[in-house]
Amino acid sequence: MSYTYDDQNIFAKILRGEIPNKTVLETEHTLAFHDIYPQAPIHVLVIPKGPYVCYDHFCQTASDAEIVDFTRTCGKVCEMMGVKDGGFRTIANAGENAIQEVPHLHFHILGGRNLGRMLAPAE
Ligand code: AMP
Repeated sequence: MSYTYDDQNIFAKILRGEIPNKTVLETEHTLAFHDIYPQAPIHVLVIPKGPYVCYDHFCQTASDAEIVDFTRTCGKVCEMMGVKDGGFRTIANAGENAIQEVPHLHFHILGGRNLGRMLAPAE
């Protein structure tokens, strides 16, 4: 697998401090922040600090420490946002078919309302 990371993407700029963000949680390898256009009352993005384009890139090339840190941070964000009782959805779009807009891996954590069915009908 080969991915080319574009370090001019908006999340790379957030990680470099060039663009502000509303941070929920920051750890050694991971940053969680509020989505700028929330699709639900709770809409947090969780990103690794390393240069990973999408989820399979991360899974196959990140270090164990990065993967553990990212996964634990997702869990902590769910706890902090209080989504456990009502339920929530985690989404990681990758590539064209998933309409990934920002080419830096991000998990969307969504909750706070009924989120409907998993997928919209195909157009
Ligand atoms: P995706 O379509 O999965 O790549 O999602 C990209 C997400 O990034 C969208 O939900 C956008 O609202 C969000 N987004 C774009 N720019 C920013 C920003 N500067 N701060 C926070 N979220 C952003």
